[in-house]
Amino acid sequence: MSKEAKMKKMLLIVVILGSLVSGVFGWSTEEKSHYFDYVVKDKYMTKICFEPVNIDYDWMDILHEATTKYNEAFPSYNSKINFVFNYSSESICSYRVKVFKENKPNEEYFAITKGFHSFLKKPADSITINLAHVYKLDYNERIALLMHEMGHVIGLRHTGITGSNAIPTTNDDSEPNKSIMRGGGDDDIFNNRVMIPIFTDYDKKAVMYLYRKW
Ligand SMILES: [Zn+2]
Repeated sequence: MSKEAKMKKMLLIVVILGSLVSGVFGWSTEEKSHYFDYVVKDKYMTKICFEPVNIDYDWMDILHEATTKYNEAFPSYNSKINFVFNYSSESICSYRVKVFKENKPNEEYFAITKGFHSFLKKPADSITINLAHVYKLDYNERIALLMHEMGHVIGLRHTGITGSNAIPTTNDDSEPNKSIMRGGGDDDIFNNRVMIPIFTDYDKKAVMYLYRKW
């Protein structure tokens, strides 16, 4: 990938975070995982169901893959939060996340997660995929993109953000730059694993810190 293409991709990636956190961005070399104040506070098992609104079958497949990856990494026997790719079974859903597509060439993101409720302690309620840019991603990168957004849905921020809640258990210099939650800001982001569909040990520490079942 050319430098220019890399830069462009870097700019596009998932800058997330709606208005609630504008102005809090700040990048450093510190690569701890971070989380928002809106982490889900439910005491018991929380099932977050996806509700595809207008996405096509190929993206439903990708969403399904991402959900499977999450539930493999964070099985219900030790994680309080599961994702459910089953938008028809309403009764089992604690929360629902609508998944939209849009086409906004002038908006510099692949996908954006919205609907945080920092006071209600609820997960975000929508993910929107920007068709104007995601065509640049291959299949695995698209899965990684949705895995990254799922992290935002349950309150994870990009790694290395200053001025927010760091997750102490991710203070591990031996495994830098390997989080699915690595996001825009550094020139070398796309040389790292952010677009590889794996929840790393680093990510597992972060989610377990917030949502371990016991
Ligand atoms: Zn992001």
